[in-house]
Amino acid sequence: MSRVVVLTGGVGGAKLVLGLVNLLPPAGVTAIVNTGDDFRHLGLHVSPDVDTLLYTLCGRANRAQGWGREDESWSFMAALAELGGPAWFKLGDRDLALHVLRTQALASGATLFAFTQRVAERWGIAATVLPMSDDPVATEIATAGGALAFQRYFVEHRCEPVATGIAFAGAAQARPAPGVIEAIGDRDTRAILIAPSNPYLSVDPILAVPGIRAALAAATAPVVAVSPIVGGDAVKGPTAKLMREFGAPVSDRTIAGHYAGLIDGLLVDGRAPAVDLGVASACTDTLMHDLNDRIRVARSALGLADRLGR
Ligand code: GDP
Repeated sequence: MSRVVVLTGGVGGAKLVLGLVNLLPPAGVTAIVNTGDDFRHLGLHVSPDVDTLLYTLCGRANRAQGWGREDESWSFMAALAELGGPAWFKLGDRDLALHVLRTQALASGATLFAFTQRVAERWGIAATVLPMSDDPVATEIATAGGALAFQRYFVEHRCEPVATGIAFAGAAQARPAPGVIEAIGDRDTRAILIAPSNPYLSVDPILAVPGIRAALAAATAPVVAVSPIVGGDAVKGPTAKLMREFGAPVSDRTIAGHYAGLIDGLLVDGRAPAVDLGVASACTDTLMHDLNDRIRVARSALGLADRLGR
């Protein structure tokens, strides 16, 4: 069966992956997911982007909230706050079950890859969800006030500190998780997509795992990114803010430049084909409000990949 591989972060990327599994046989979709956001909190191993993919693909994602699980309750957080525990990172009661089980599995020797496959199977997810690595990689944001661990920056400080750099601690020693290099290099892989995830915080950690960039360069399948820029701004999160702080215009051209040498094409928002991007492109309305939008964006990205080939 022909396969589509997608490199993804959490919420923005999961939209495209959901479009893909509704456009293609889900078993032919492989998501390689950022784990640079993973951290230990209250003794638990939390994998926010992997969980977002799992919740989204099994229909349990909380659409209104934009993260976490649907039908959530907050008794644990209320009890924690009453005891003076840390309230800055919200763990819903149902969400907690996944973190507790994962922590237990990892402590008894399972890998993140194996645990993720187990949950995906349990929830009837036919697509393959692969953490980028089983080894710890921790995204850190350099600021004038010192380095901040990802969740401290993203959640506790709401991305407010000005970033002067981003590092991926542990990445140099990390190995791609089982199946990652194989999926990218598979001769049956029709296209490799880079989701419209945050390039600096969600995609770069994946690319920092040794072997992944080389596998993308050697792949026989075309690599197409979907730009996170819509109407001159990012849809959400710190993508545009980081661009400004790094002195780059908030534009598709900056995205194309960021992925230069890696991608064969870029899908951008708009009605007219983009010019002067330095890479082949196609356009559609890339804002993904509903499932039809997600399917349209997935179809357009694949259409560009098919047109380009390698
Ligand atoms: P996170 O890991 O949960 O922060 O999410 P991601 O990194 O996967 O996605 C965040 C990025 O997705 C942001 O840069 C947004 O601009 C982008 N994004 C979110 N929704 C959409 C959308 O509907 N269309 C496009 N083109 N980009 C989106």
